[in-house]
Amino acid sequence: MKPARFFRSIRFRIAVWCSLAVAAVAIAALVGLRQTIRWTLTHEVDQALLEDGDEVGLVLTELGPEGLEAVADELGRKATGHRQHRWFVRLIADDDTIVWQSASAADSPALAGDGPLQTSGEYRLYGTDAPTNRVGVARMELGAWLAPLQDDLKRIDRTVVGATVLMLLLAPLCGYWLAGLATRDLAAITAQAARMRPSKLDERLPERGVGDELDRLAHTVNRLLDRIADFIEEKRNFLANAAHELRTPIAAIRSSAEVSLAADRTVGEYRELLEQIIEDSESLEVLVNQVLLLSEAVASQDATPRNTVDFSQVVSRAVDMFRGVAESRQIELHANIQPQVQVRGVRQHLVQVANNLIDNALKYTPEGGQATVELVATESGEARLEVVDSGIGIDPADVPRVFERFFRADRARQRCGQGGTGLGLSICQTIVDAHDGSIECRSTPGSGTQLEVRLPLAVPTNSA
Ligand code: ATP
Ligand code: MG
Repeated sequence: MKPARFFRSIRFRIAVWCSLAVAAVAIAALVGLRQTIRWTLTHEVDQALLEDGDEVGLVLTELGPEGLEAVADELGRKATGHRQHRWFVRLIADDDTIVWQSASAADSPALAGDGPLQTSGEYRLYGTDAPTNRVGVARMELGAWLAPLQDDLKRIDRTVVGATVLMLLLAPLCGYWLAGLATRDLAAITAQAARMRPSKLDERLPERGVGDELDRLAHTVNRLLDRIADFIEEKRNFLANAAHELRTPIAAIRSSAEVSLAADRTVGEYRELLEQIIEDSESLEVLVNQVLLLSEAVASQDATPRNTVDFSQVVSRAVDMFRGVAESRQIELHANIQPQVQVRGVRQHLVQVANNLIDNALKYTPEGGQATVELVATESGEARLEVVDSGIGIDPADVPRVFERFFRADRARQRCGQGGTGLGLSICQTIVDAHDGSIECRSTPGSGTQLEVRLPLAVPTNSA
């Protein structure tokens, strides 16, 4: 890893934060411990001096009547007993002259300034008034050498410094190692993501199934990849189907042209072949237009500005446009259109929906049949367009598939001989979806089909 990348890595940053946190806690804990020990030891020395003060006071009152020698004997013995601590006592008269002091007191400092307990150089000193006595002692000073205690503290200091240095060395290493454990799976995900190819739609990130944050991230990305794969798959199928559908009219045009060139023909024959070519070109044009419309409807879902569209007018015009076709096929076309049903959307797309539904109703209804177009604004604030016919119907197994691109039920082709491209209803569904609406198909084979479109009203009728 390059140095710049290493310093930016999560692993490095976790290691640094972890080290800083461990170091701060460790230093605070060790310094706190050292101060507590220091305070405890000093407190113990002070307690001992206070108790010794009481004891010296007792010696003065009890042995005082026997004279200074008896007092000195007793205190001298005590001082000898505490020789290693250089314990001393000094008895002072009212006029600040020393009445008596233990041998070790000669080199020790005197009490200075305020406060009964003081530290002077290497000594801890305690001064207090003497109890009433017969040897003329007004005050007494006691002291003990602090060097052993300071040695203990120095040893503790050395341990504290050693432990702190060890912590400072170990914390980054441990932090780096722990951060490595934590980010190991992230590295695996990154490596797998880097290996993924757009051509392999089934590749996914590893999920360990432990349900942690990384698993949730991998799961979310995988679901996104699922949706992208479905989308690409759909596009591939669409392209393959479109190419397949285009082949038929192109092949027909080509064979008509080849037939016309194969031999000398009469003008009538040429005319017939050219008419055939024009007819095939027209179906080619219809197909290309529908493919374009479909891709435009998908692409412009968010881009095309929405206007308030008079859906009643759109549907009425579509019905009027198909009246001629209905008449020529001897189908009764009824319209029941509530006026002023307004929806928000793209007018030319909504025109396409109405046209496709009426076209199907007429195309898949045999002569003498009926088709009804009804448009109402419902109480629930929707525009409901229903196109019902008394035609050949759709097999129940095919009903869910009629919105698939290029789907044509065999039944329809066999019975009516009306070859469509199979894009009409999928165009309707794409447009209706883009308008936040819904489309449903209900059908009974042999007795008819009902297509129902629901779109949100631009202005609810109850408030209009
Ligand atoms: P086109 O792209 O020209 O509309 P199409 O009509 O075949 O072609 P769709 O409108 O998408 O395509 O319809 C898909 C299939 O659903 C039709 O081929 C037909 O089998 C069936 N279908 C649709 N509407 C009806 C209907 N009203 N009655 C019976 N079958 C229908
Ligand atoms: Mg159709």
